[in-house]
Amino acid sequence: ALVALRRAVAFRAARDALTELEHHGRMMEAVRSAISKVRAGSGPLGLAMLDLDDFKRVNDTYGHLAGDALLAGVAARLRGVLRAGQTPYRYGGEEFALVFPRKKIPQVKPHLEALRESIADYEMSIRSAQRPKEKKEGMKQRSQKTQKTRAKVTVSIGVAQRNDVLRSPELVIKAADEKLYEAKRKGRNKVICG
Ligand code: GH3
Ligand code: MG
Ligand code: MG
Repeated sequence: ALVALRRAVAFRAARDALTELEHHGRMMEAVRSAISKVRAGSGPLGLAMLDLDDFKRVNDTYGHLAGDALLAGVAARLRGVLRAGQTPYRYGGEEFALVFPRKKIPQVKPHLEALRESIADYEMSIRSAQRPKEKKEGMKQRSQKTQKTRAKVTVSIGVAQRNDVLRSPELVIKAADEKLYEAKRKGRNKVICG
């Protein structure tokens, strides 16, 4: 029983409560260990940074609880679509990181395009506390117990690969981040590779 409890505590400590994905700290460990396993100058490592598009507007439109539900829905999608050896992490906020040990950019790009599309097509049914435009309308809405809305969200993805120049986890993350911002600049709902 103690072993089971220890395991449960370790599971909780490594994971983010909302999405049940492993969090930032675990991702850095995984990237570090993947990098240390390959000899200097050899062995690829793909890393993708994924950020929900216009999520502030989603929160403003449907409320933060609905935003949370959407985030959890995207996380479930990430877990469902990715295969073994492709680990999704919650990097922070509405940002996720995907680590692909021993993979090069051309090998991961098709998967990421498919993932982006599958999220964009996925219509989630969420409980909504829609922001009322008028006070009177708001009172009417609050008196209704539940209100279901269908909502969609898109993601932008930046991808980088560990190489002779990008040796540390920090440098690979920075490179993926730059590609992510390029995807945002180019109109969102895009995968941009370094
Ligand atoms: P962009 O397409 O440029 O990424 O626009 P954005 O609105 O997503 O970007 P911005 O960084 O301005 O806002 C991120 C928003 O994500 C703000 C914050 O309220 C929301 N957010 C972050 N974490 C959570 C969360 O755990 N739950 C909810 N509901 N919202 C979150
Ligand atoms: Mg965002
Ligand atoms: Mg963000």
